[in-house]
Amino acid sequence: MNPFDLTGKVALVTGGNGGIGLGMGKGLAQAGATVVVAGRNAEKNAAAVKALGPKASSVIADVTKEDECRAMVAEVVKRHGRLDILVNNAGMNVRKPPHELSMVEWHTVMNTNMTSAVMCCQAAYPEMKKAGGGKIINIGSMMSIFGAAFAPAYAASKGAIVQYTKVCASAWAKDNIQSNAVLPGWIDTDLTKRARTDVKGLHERVLDRTPAGRWGVPDDLSGIAVFLASPASDFVTGTAIPVDGGFAIAM
Ligand code: NDP
Repeated sequence: MNPFDLTGKVALVTGGNGGIGLGMGKGLAQAGATVVVAGRNAEKNAAAVKALGPKASSVIADVTKEDECRAMVAEVVKRHGRLDILVNNAGMNVRKPPHELSMVEWHTVMNTNMTSAVMCCQAAYPEMKKAGGGKIINIGSMMSIFGAAFAPAYAASKGAIVQYTKVCASAWAKDNIQSNAVLPGWIDTDLTKRARTDVKGLHERVLDRTPAGRWGVPDDLSGIAVFLASPASDFVTGTAIPVDGGFAIAM
């Protein structure tokens, strides 16, 4: 038996229509999973489905809305009869110092990055339990570990998601559900393209500090997605695994 085989498994990747989510979705699809990507933008969804191959499909969903999270999970189950793998990846940032962030901005970032995962996990849990087990993969960040002067809500949301990952791992182990977080380093996506222009010197600082000597690319996340979604990780739960070219271990 190949412990990384995902044949017959159904995966839902929020924010799977671009960047890191699409990189993870590609890994899952290559390992045999049926992948459903969720996002708000129909054009991006269509392009991602094309990139993921014939078994893939998409749903339009805004994961800040509880009814849409529930409807999205219900749609996946309607299409494929089950849900085995949930990747809570949708995310955004508002780059401002703490004293300038409005409450609307705070709630928007927290709802997109953190509360969305709570709502998606709640919708997915009964389906995973019914299927005899499941895999939850939450996307944290280097800001789950470090602070940053320009990311008050983002860092708070990414710290919180690691703790929430441990809660689900503890609560649902008896249902054979493993819950883990991935902490990407600096990955070249739409999200960080803006950061490179907004935050002076960021590009060079990342290169200097990353032992691998480069920014990551979305495909760098496909292997960890397969590992955490597959039987290979059945005794791995509640962890937060950096995929960062060594950023978190170098001074
Ligand atoms: P992108 O901006 O490329 O992708 C973000 C994705 O989230 C898009 O697919 C977008 O789709 C989706 N999304 C955003 N808001 C919502 C919403 N309300 N409902 C549904 N989907 C939504 O960013 P990345 O790929 O870089 O980021 C993906 C995750 O990785 C995020 O959680 C981010 O915080 C995290 N991360 C990224 C790092 C990096 O260096 N790039 C480093 C560490 C963590 P659509 O617009 O169609 O809704």
